[in-house]
Amino acid sequence: MIQLIRGFKDILPGEVELWQKIEKTAVELLEDFGFKEIRIPIMERTELFARSIGEDTDIVEKEMYTFPDRKGDLLTLRPEATASIVRSYIQHKLYAQDPVRKFYTIGPMFRRERPQKGRYRQFYQINAEIFGVDSALADAQLIFILATLFARLSVTDVQSHINSLGCPACRPNFKQSLNQFLSGVKDRLCADCNRRQIRNPLRVLDCKVPACKEAIEGVPSILDSLCPECHRQFEILKNALERLDVPYIVDKRLVRGLDYYSRATFEIKTGLLGAQDAVAGGGRYDGLVKTLGGPDLPATGFAIGFDRLAELIADSKVDNARQLDIFVASLGEKSRALAFEWSCAFGLAGIQVEMDMSNRSLKSQMKRANKFAAKHTLIVGENELEQGAVILRNMATKDQVSIPIENLVENVKAKLAV
Ligand code: AMP
Repeated sequence: MIQLIRGFKDILPGEVELWQKIEKTAVELLEDFGFKEIRIPIMERTELFARSIGEDTDIVEKEMYTFPDRKGDLLTLRPEATASIVRSYIQHKLYAQDPVRKFYTIGPMFRRERPQKGRYRQFYQINAEIFGVDSALADAQLIFILATLFARLSVTDVQSHINSLGCPACRPNFKQSLNQFLSGVKDRLCADCNRRQIRNPLRVLDCKVPACKEAIEGVPSILDSLCPECHRQFEILKNALERLDVPYIVDKRLVRGLDYYSRATFEIKTGLLGAQDAVAGGGRYDGLVKTLGGPDLPATGFAIGFDRLAELIADSKVDNARQLDIFVASLGEKSRALAFEWSCAFGLAGIQVEMDMSNRSLKSQMKRANKFAAKHTLIVGENELEQGAVILRNMATKDQVSIPIENLVENVKAKLAV
């Protein structure tokens, strides 16, 4: 038997209702805040991700599904959505009329990480991006939306962690003091960190290896090296969150795994998911639009880990599956043909319907109606048909009424409304 690819998964009926609920709640909220949906492809030229996410990152170094297509073009299944949204913003000049644009997108991402609970090779994200706003108020709005979404979904054990990564003016100073510090603990760092320390020391702060985490315990804080404008923007962010009653934790080691971030960076963490504790992450990426060939416009955004969010809520059962309105049972060839036509007409009229298409006894058809928890069963029998009628049985009260087949859909609708 052919099995799923490792790290990939099916989302089955029973579980999918929760996914629908999360998606609906998120979409409603994002649209209320002026975000428009954008749909982007799941595959792009490899170069797009290499240039935006950064060559020294785990994603680009070891996790991308990259392959040459039949003409030899190097393509990659998207490991994240921001790069594609930026590409689209630039390619279609979506900034032309008004550089301030807000987009969201929902879909699968692909990273060849070691699979474990909360970490998959195909996983889903809900992404939101704000282009053209350089104020930290946009960052605050994103964090507020995340906090609101979690509250609406009754997820309570989550904390917002925030940090600033500075800007090209002040980050070099920090990198220098960071490098000095890292040289002192060099022997305790993993091979990746030792290699990255020279080219991109910030990456070391993000290393997941426990020994590295321990070695950098006393690392200097980037917040002490911020230039006046970065400092001011970080204060704006904190003040806005306080006014919105969103509690936050300043986390000096929060740098996140992608290169393109600047200034505000944030992560929503939970104590309920074990090692994979980040349910959402994001931040400002002011340089990315320009880096990818567009105008010099600022941007900020977030990505929610859909799978992890669903796992957080999974225990509180969601039951938004609709109950079947009608089960159509029939006896004999002729009745079945009519039952089939009528069941199609019911579906068309918005009445949720099932029928038995095989040649089963009435008893076993009634059993199926019960299994579906149908509210009513319509019994199409040859004798009744000769009288121009069918029987509608209320499955709860067991009452049966005869219904004329003329205008059957209307007649049944009227009965269902009672
Ligand atoms: P990132 O794009 O790495 O900032 O990730 C944003 C969010 O996506 C994280 O906070 C996770 O919730 C989720 N995420 C990232 N990688 C995975 C993965 N391999 N499996 C499941 N969720 C993931």
